[in-house]
Amino acid sequence: MSTELNNGLYEPSPEACEEKMRLAVAYQVATADYSKAVSELVAKIGVTLKSEYDKLHQAVEQERQRSVEARDRLYHHTTTHGCSFQAKRASLT
Ligand SMILES: [Zn+2]
Repeated sequence: MSTELNNGLYEPSPEACEEKMRLAVAYQVATADYSKAVSELVAKIGVTLKSEYDKLHQAVEQERQRSVEARDRLYHHTTTHGCSFQAKRASLT
């Protein structure tokens, strides 16, 4: 039965890639931080000083940048490592 699983093609298992999991979690955390910063900013609209608002706005921009970078790192890893779900689907056809 094992010959069926090993017909000369190495197929990386997407679920088993630890680096991908790590990057996916980092992306999730960055996204959560970003939406938290956004709701803090929204809550302060009209009730805070402009200088305070600008500071919050800057923080939101930083979090947004972080989540974009985390997403790019995840995307870059899965495409170069071949452990994305798309890659698995393509290798099965
Ligand atoms: Zn990987």
